Amino acid sequence: MPIDATLPYDSDNIFARILRGEIPARKVYEDEHALAFHDINPAAPVHILVIPKGAYVSWDDFSARATDDEIAGFIRAVGHIAREHDLVAPGYRLLANVGGHAGQEVPHLHVHLFGGRPLGPMLA
Ligand code: C5P
Repeated sequence: MPIDATLPYDSDNIFARILRGEIPARKVYEDEHALAFHDINPAAPVHILVIPKGAYVSWDDFSARATDDEIAGFIRAVGHIAREHDLVAPGYRLLANVGGHAGQEVPHLHVHLFGGRPLGPMLA
């Protein structure tokens, strides 16, 4: 069920629980601004989710409320993870769903990082 991205942050969401260590995840990277882990239902050979450590519902919420340090740290973490997985030369895709029309399911900002095969044309 897609979320309403205008609702306040729900601190019981599944990615908040992963951040608190209450639920396991296959982590690939962590720093002060970001945590990254393998998607449990991968859509490509590499399908990593990168989430900010702060409590942000979506890209919209993050871009409106996060500090410049948080935004810079998060974007740098995404780039670092792609390089660490040797994805730059073959190419990769980033995607962030926001709200109902995009089908966002988890109300904590997450950027999908896809790679490992030709990804085909963008949908929509
Ligand atoms: O962008 P959207 O909200 O639709 O994506 C949520 C993603 O979170 C899905 O790809 C789903 O497989 C993933 N997920 C996960 N671990 C969980 C719950 C969801 O990797 N425990």
